[in-house]
Amino acid sequence: MKALLLALAVTLAAVTSAGAQTAERLYVMDCGHNSAKDQSIWSPGVDVGKPIEQANTCSLIRHGSQWLLWDTGYPDAIADTPVDTPVGHATRAKTLMGQLAEIGVKPADIALVAVSHTHPDHIGNVDRFPASLLLIQKAEFDWAFAPGKRPLFKKDRPLKLLEGDDDVFGDGSVTLLSTPGHTPGHQSLLVHLARSGWILLAGDAAHFKDNWDNDRVPSINASAEQTHASHARLARILAEKNAQLWINHDLPTFERLKQSPQFYD
Ligand SMILES: [Zn+2]
Repeated sequence: MKALLLALAVTLAAVTSAGAQTAERLYVMDCGHNSAKDQSIWSPGVDVGKPIEQANTCSLIRHGSQWLLWDTGYPDAIADTPVDTPVGHATRAKTLMGQLAEIGVKPADIALVAVSHTHPDHIGNVDRFPASLLLIQKAEFDWAFAPGKRPLFKKDRPLKLLEGDDDVFGDGSVTLLSTPGHTPGHQSLLVHLARSGWILLAGDAAHFKDNWDNDRVPSINASAEQTHASHARLARILAEKNAQLWINHDLPTFERLKQSPQFYD
């Protein structure tokens, strides 16, 4: 009996510590800014004609000796040449390459790049990481490279096509969550850090806090039903993990976060 209890205690300790694994660092990088004239593009019928300023955020995560880049933002070229897009005026105060160089990280050092989805404001610099393994949902990849669509990055590259959630490092510290709706293969990222706890990087599951709070579906979304289901799923995970919610394009969120070269650990 004693031996059995001891074995049970050892097993439980192993399970508990496996459940408590963490990534070492998370850097928040400035990946652009959008000035939109009408925020009701994202909130149909609400705040019609009201302008909105939006952040565009990338995150760099260190796990052991590996780096994972989450989203790549607007193309770095926008730093020199701002552009008008169908949803606003896009600028970049800093390049992604410059922010990586500032902390001594070269593109070749980044083993893994994951993208929330394939809209141009998230995949603008994917081709600058030609050797990194790109983690993307298969549904997103198939949609982005459907016949007749203009490819936004080179598909002939190291790829891992996911069909659902993915435990990136195999220890529960960093998990890609399938959250379709905005696009067919949209995903979010859940990160566990020793001091900061659980952080949910929602991608474009919602575009700003007010939309999240009201479970709104932008008119451009691929599926309203999937968007609502993904909101509900993320809300459950936030509650379960007592996680912080970081909405990629929400400017007030970005402005209160520590930005690279500072980091979360
Ligand atoms: Zn976006």
